[in-house]
Amino acid sequence: MGGGDTAKQLELMCDLGSDVLACTPSYSLYLADHAERQGLDPAELPVSTVIFGAEPCTDPMREAIERRLDVTGIDIYGLSEIVGPGVSVECHEAQNGLHVWEDRFYPEVVDLETGEPLPAGEAGELVLTTLSKEALPVLRYRTGDVTSLRYDACDCGRTTVRMDNVTGRTDDMLVVRGLNLYPSQIEAAVVGVDGVAPQYRIDLHTRNNLDVIELTVERAADADRTVGELESVVFDRLDATLSFTPDAVEVVEAGGIERTETGKVKRVYDHR
Ligand SMILES: [Zn+2]
Repeated sequence: MGGGDTAKQLELMCDLGSDVLACTPSYSLYLADHAERQGLDPAELPVSTVIFGAEPCTDPMREAIERRLDVTGIDIYGLSEIVGPGVSVECHEAQNGLHVWEDRFYPEVVDLETGEPLPAGEAGELVLTTLSKEALPVLRYRTGDVTSLRYDACDCGRTTVRMDNVTGRTDDMLVVRGLNLYPSQIEAAVVGVDGVAPQYRIDLHTRNNLDVIELTVERAADADRTVGELESVVFDRLDATLSFTPDAVEVVEAGGIERTETGKVKRVYDHR
């Protein structure tokens, strides 16, 4: 099925006993919310594996989805300029980096400023060359996606180079009062906080010629902590992990952040 029409997705999933769901990470949560509203337990759906693509997904976000739907979450990567999803994918066994199909795509990671190739393990921009594509081959194409490469053997036994989960795009980087931050770093810091739902939004403004960044997170429906407690916990977590404190943290009740049924979720609203 294509995107949207979530009631029908759920109906087909139950009728046909669908085992694997392929969608954006945010849509899998949307689907879980929708299932609950229909009186279904998301963990009881027949799906055992979700393949996530098209949006960056941090480990805390993946864990939140795995718990909610009782699934194994697998990251897939691709880009429409090359092949769409399928340039690389995680293995079910290790879930530890995405195996690049090296017989088809030659990956490099380069320094964002200089374009020089970086050693294994260092984060930079992913550059791809297609080795077998006809009609529209690409040579050292700068993807704009930030990741790193690893050449060590995977626990699953496959020997292809692996890339880490994409942490952001070179054009997503937020520059706030001289600090460079990716939205995924904020996601990684706040989504694992006990009592916080895997939803957030970042708003950027200019006030008195200064950048102002405001973060909105959502209280989980079953949270024990109050809104006030969560605000200070989130604030402290950002300070401790990123040495960054937003100008405001607002915690809204469950369901308070707008969801996206189709397409990619929008997390950052830059009003500057
Ligand atoms: Zn593997």
